[in-house]
Amino acid sequence: MATVLVSDLHLDPARPAAVESFLRFLRGVDAGNQLLILGDLFEAWIGDDDDAAWLEPIRQSLAALDARDIDCGLMHGNRDFLVGEQFAATTGVRLLDEYALVELGGEQVLLTHGDLLCTDDTRYMTLRSQLRDPRWQTDFLSQPLTDRRRIAGELRELSRTEMATKPADIMDVNAASVDATMRRFGVRTLIHGHTHRPDFHRWTLDGHAALRIVLGDWYQTASCLIWDDDGPRSVPLPA
Ligand code: MN
Repeated sequence: MATVLVSDLHLDPARPAAVESFLRFLRGVDAGNQLLILGDLFEAWIGDDDDAAWLEPIRQSLAALDARDIDCGLMHGNRDFLVGEQFAATTGVRLLDEYALVELGGEQVLLTHGDLLCTDDTRYMTLRSQLRDPRWQTDFLSQPLTDRRRIAGELRELSRTEMATKPADIMDVNAASVDATMRRFGVRTLIHGHTHRPDFHRWTLDGHAALRIVLGDWYQTASCLIWDDDGPRSVPLPA
């Protein structure tokens, strides 16, 4: 059995080719394998009741995984944190916590989207705690879909402006936060996305070899991480 990991696909009706890539990718996952999506599957998520037509093939393709005995875990990203229980029930995916432990290659590996590790970006961390406030979420989800689409558009615009003005290193993970998080969970391997800086980072943590694998995004190219009996490797996908 292999585990296949992806993140930061940022699926959006404005980029139909990426949606097609994802549907093709899902069809290509071998029966019996595990698929883990580490956040930002969607560029934005305004609620599980979103009835936009472009989402339907995605819901159906995820639901079809079960027939091939493919277990699919889905973690929230900073864009699609409102994906909820209704989406999970419709598609059969399991919603993962913001930190999730999985056994890969006989060791415990920590998974997270990655934004929680970007602790230098204090403005984002403040915004994050506002958006994750249950009261804000309940209020947002109670508004009509058209209003939610407009607000989501405004949030994306705000995010674009913020990213354009921040120094690049602020938007990467903080090394001390990475070490502290790995110590807290007692792991030597961490896999995350979010930063769009795909890489394998190796260093020594408390005298042990540590590994941090950063998954790539699907904006310009597409890739996945396959972890099988030979260990982890990044695999490019046809975009
Ligand atoms: Mn992200």
